[in-house]
Amino acid sequence: MTTQALTTAHWAGLAQVHKFGGTSLADAGRFRAVAAIVQQHCATPEQCWLVVSAPGKTTDQLCQLLDMAARGEALEPVLAEVQHSLTTLVQQSLTEPEQSDVLAQLQQWLALLPELAQAGRAADVLALGESVSALLLSRLLRQLGLAADWLDSRQFLTVDGQQVRWDQSEQDLQALCQPGIRVVTGFIGRDLAGNSLTLGRNGSDYSATILGRLVQAEQVTIWTDVDAIYSGDPRRLPAAVPYQQVSWRQACLLAELGNPVLHARTLSPLHNSQTKLLVRSSFEPERSGCHILPDADCLASFVTDLHDMVLLSMHQLHGLNASWLANALHQPVIALPQSCDAHVWLLPARVADEAVQLLARHQVHAVHDTSRYYAVAWLKPAQVQQADLPADVAACVKRLAPAHRYQNHELAIWLFDQELSAVNLAQLHQCCTQPRPEIQLIVAGTGNVGAEFLRLLPGHQQRCHSHALRLAVLFNSRQMVFEPDNGLELAQQMQQGRPLDQKALLAEIAQLKGPKVLIDLTPSQQLAEQYPAFIEAGCHLISANKQGVTLPEAEYQAILDRLDQQQLHWYSTTTAGAGLPVQRALQELHSAGDQVRRISGIFSGTLSWLLCQYDGSSAFSDLLLQARELGYTEPDPREDLSGRDVQRKLLVLARTMGCSLELDDIALEPLLPESLAGDSWQAFWQQRAEFDALMQAAWQQAQQQGLQLRYVGELSLTEAGVQARVRLVQVPASDPLAAILPCDNVFVIESDWYQELPLVIKGPGAGRTVTAGGVHADLAQLCQQLPAAAYSSRLS
Ligand code: ASP
Ligand code: MG
Repeated sequence: MTTQALTTAHWAGLAQVHKFGGTSLADAGRFRAVAAIVQQHCATPEQCWLVVSAPGKTTDQLCQLLDMAARGEALEPVLAEVQHSLTTLVQQSLTEPEQSDVLAQLQQWLALLPELAQAGRAADVLALGESVSALLLSRLLRQLGLAADWLDSRQFLTVDGQQVRWDQSEQDLQALCQPGIRVVTGFIGRDLAGNSLTLGRNGSDYSATILGRLVQAEQVTIWTDVDAIYSGDPRRLPAAVPYQQVSWRQACLLAELGNPVLHARTLSPLHNSQTKLLVRSSFEPERSGCHILPDADCLASFVTDLHDMVLLSMHQLHGLNASWLANALHQPVIALPQSCDAHVWLLPARVADEAVQLLARHQVHAVHDTSRYYAVAWLKPAQVQQADLPADVAACVKRLAPAHRYQNHELAIWLFDQELSAVNLAQLHQCCTQPRPEIQLIVAGTGNVGAEFLRLLPGHQQRCHSHALRLAVLFNSRQMVFEPDNGLELAQQMQQGRPLDQKALLAEIAQLKGPKVLIDLTPSQQLAEQYPAFIEAGCHLISANKQGVTLPEAEYQAILDRLDQQQLHWYSTTTAGAGLPVQRALQELHSAGDQVRRISGIFSGTLSWLLCQYDGSSAFSDLLLQARELGYTEPDPREDLSGRDVQRKLLVLARTMGCSLELDDIALEPLLPESLAGDSWQAFWQQRAEFDALMQAAWQQAQQQGLQLRYVGELSLTEAGVQARVRLVQVPASDPLAAILPCDNVFVIESDWYQELPLVIKGPGAGRTVTAGGVHADLAQLCQQLPAAAYSSRLS
């Protein structure tokens, strides 16, 4: 392998760091599972960094070895154990010739252990575990055909006391780097004199975020044995909610409260950086994991309980703080919100004396209370970060009668003389974490927009203050899944389903409690025709599907009537202009008392692109082919040229304005005249010259008058009635229809209030993210429309 210096610029913003802990590397089977994850996630080896812990219990065994050496005991039994487990691991993981190679290296390392242990060189002894993992994983990856090598972090990671020497470490790392995947030892580093050190037990998460900062990683993924951060300890609170998003601030507070998933020092290197942090399960790699998001307005809510705690009070802190003590003791130390000038910290009773002594050494006089408490801490969600507790939480706490209570805007802590019963703790957890009423989402469609909608869902779930958005049903034309698990990749969610059965589907939906909404992200006419049955089952409607809003007038009206009778709503923002809020603007003007007179616009991104690009220099059909290759057109581009899609969108707008109209009432002049369209794409292609000549002539004519070609839908509302048509027009450069970017949609609204200058809404009118985003905007609107939920009243 050639060694070549790479600079940080090579990775900046691109590098991926993946960290695998001891449980993820406990045996040969786990090593193979990790290698499979790496294969899947490290498509570009140059950008891929792995950080590994010691396999399974290796560090524990090595600690034991050190203890025995300190006591002067015979080391052979433990040495034999270490040797046996690591040798077996290597033998079961690798084939020849790598196996012999790695075993030889392992023997050399093991031979050094007794001397190192007896000399008390703890870090050098402990380093064995991480070194074996890194060497073994790199060889296993090579066997799988990936370029990989291991890197001993003691060659670059320099730590002075508790402080990482960032500049020096970065320089040394750069000098070392080879191409390919680098498997780096976690947990260990070196001091200023070059001696080995460790970052403390469980320190390799910290190694991963340090490395993330050194290589300016795009993302650091901590692969562990959980795929979410739970609202409470799931072993004792079965109703604990798994969160797929937690804000950075909440993660820090959780770490201070002793939550084991992420430690405070793990978070510190990435604070205020661009690097994303993600926790995933190596046991369930198909799950998408939990993102730690910067400054997210996070609705996650956590209840943590702590046993056997005491209060420590001080008058002067001399610059020390609770995190300093927590770091020194490796225990949670929580500064309690206080109003008087004494400082009160909560910490485990078993370290109270040690804490007093430690503080005394820093001239801080501390006294600890003799009472022991059982503490429950509530880390509040963003929407209740206020001085008073929400009414139902306050009522629950009052009933439980804590001995002391403390709270600020982020945290409430209650101290009890005795441990709460499981039932009481569960109740407290319940009212702290699930205060929002549910709305049941029935999502139809798992294509582009469906997948994107589901990807955006966790974020919306956390942001939605009024409702818990519950994904109740997911179906497509083949399959249906009840209570899908949105933590899984979409394909896997669907695998858990059963064949679509319309009757069973509707029966299931009918018995869902509370408000529910059918979110139609399909292009299916058949589904649109079934809207009445969904309404019967109690569903509000959100459609990205154009078929429903363009059904024949009688059917369309029947749907509206039924919705009305049942006081249900229908949103369809994305059926025209994708996420552009055109219908919303029209509705708002109308309800405010304005009178819309005319709407015109460009509603087809494809035709917008074609006519913006066309400059007469080459054949129009060549451009069409190019658009098709870029994926801008329907599979058969004649569909776009027919103008039917523009016609449908104009109908949507007309109906939004309350006009009763059929599709055929809209005069349509296709861009490609029917006589030239041919029976098939091939037939058209053979005779395209005629169409090209037509376009060329139209372009030249416009050009001579200094005008531009646009394919436009127009709707005029006059006393005499409604006039609607779709056609190719010529517009001056100053017209809002001219000043657009190639893929833009534009909607020009003229009204009593917008007479001289029209109201113009412009932007991309297609694309999966803007469409799925528009559907979420509809969902947010629906939630606002629903009768005020019990919870929202207490926010005021
Ligand atoms: N192997 C070390 C330990 O067991 C470091 C780590 O796993 O994070 O503490
Ligand atoms: Mg729209």
